[in-house]
Amino acid sequence: MEFEEPVTEIIKRTYNVKSFRFKKPDDFDYKAGQYVIITLKDGEKKIGKPFTLSSSPTEKDHIEFTKKLTGHEYSNMLDAMVPGDKATIKGPFGKLTFEGEREKIALLSGGIGITPMISICKYCTDMKLNTDIMLICSDKTEEDMIFTEELEEMKKQNPNLNVFHTLTRASESWTGCRERICENLILRELPDYYERTFYVCGPPPMVDSMVELLQSMRIPDSEINKESLIGY
Ligand SMILES: Cc1cc2nc3c(=O)[nH]c(=O)nc-3n(C[C@H](O)[C@H](O)[C@H](O)COP(=O)(O)OP(=O)(O)OC[C@H]3O[C@@H](n4cnc5c(N)ncnc54)[C@H](O)[C@@H]3O)c2cc1C
Repeated sequence: MEFEEPVTEIIKRTYNVKSFRFKKPDDFDYKAGQYVIITLKDGEKKIGKPFTLSSSPTEKDHIEFTKKLTGHEYSNMLDAMVPGDKATIKGPFGKLTFEGEREKIALLSGGIGITPMISICKYCTDMKLNTDIMLICSDKTEEDMIFTEELEEMKKQNPNLNVFHTLTRASESWTGCRERICENLILRELPDYYERTFYVCGPPPMVDSMVELLQSMRIPDSEINKESLIGY
């Protein structure tokens, strides 16, 4: 499906991440974790890029995507948008989806790769699913942590949602984990890892190294779902 909608709301998430909301057309259906192509026009020029929806299908009034601002051409066009400006939305696409088909899942995200995980966590929370979720987010610094308040709010509503953060370039005051996601971290934080289905999303090198790690830990390929944010 392809449709044009004006932006209804823009939410600044961090110093370099913004979410863009649009009214959800009644006949637009998607699964938690899927992505859309957002096309912007500048005169005669049109540029389209893929973005995972950071909203959940349970949110009936809006859809949302979340962009890490890079200072490049398309990113600057988005950054300059104000409510009322239009974008063309095409989709949904993608197989990194969750609809409650597993009892225990592990979500591994790198940076902006948190977007499908937020959609999945929100979906499970709103649907009151019993799914046992462990979300492990890896970011660079405290300032790069996205959706922390939203996750705290979801944790209050969903006792099956656990969130673990690791920061690879944290400030001295960070008392939490500083490791990259590695075998030790998984053995420690996810001792029942072999019972879980994995969902991995982030920049291509992160996704490749996570898949290699999980394979080396004898997780079957059928239990590893991944999305590389190519172009990130
Ligand atoms: C399925 C899918 C889902 C996605 N979901 C999201 C999402 O939810 N949120 C999100 O932010 N992104 C997402 N992406 C990535 C997104 O589509 C864009 O590719 C990304 O945001 C970068 O776009 P850009 O125009 O800002 O940067 P681009 O100009 O496309 O730059 C992309 C990369 O190339 C590098 N680069 C570009 N030009 C140069 C140059 N001249 N010299 C050196 N390096 C250069 C940049 O540093 C950057 O790392 C997704 C991608 C896919 C495939």
